[in-house]
Amino acid sequence: MVIRLYTDLKKGQRKYLNELSFGCEQENHVVNKMECNDTSCFVHGTLKLRGQVLTGKVVSAKAKNTVIVERPTMKYIKKYKRYARTSSRIPAHNPPCINAKEGDFVKIAECRKISRTKAWSVSEIIKRKEQTK
Ligand SMILES: [Zn+2]
Repeated sequence: MVIRLYTDLKKGQRKYLNELSFGCEQENHVVNKMECNDTSCFVHGTLKLRGQVLTGKVVSAKAKNTVIVERPTMKYIKKYKRYARTSSRIPAHNPPCINAKEGDFVKIAECRKISRTKAWSVSEIIKRKEQTK
């Protein structure tokens, strides 16, 4: 599956990526050769990914086929002429063939509205949570 996407750069800076491929070629998909009957899966279903691509950390994977991805942002405070660290939380679709878990670093891509709050889908796991013990 080959799609055109934007990368996550600084505000106002948008780099256009040609033929960025993901999905079937990814190692995660080869490892998890499980059945995926999800119609909202961008590899096995009909979902198309387009728009921006962001990276973040999965902070919650409690809901079915959904993860909450948190990423740090900066907010300018005029009074003090300084930036404050804030974070944004994005609910994203988590297809069963990717199966991202809490603590994973993931790449998410914009897509159509999947539910009232979801308009993003996990496209790739960048780094799995390191397991101690
Ligand atoms: Zn799938």
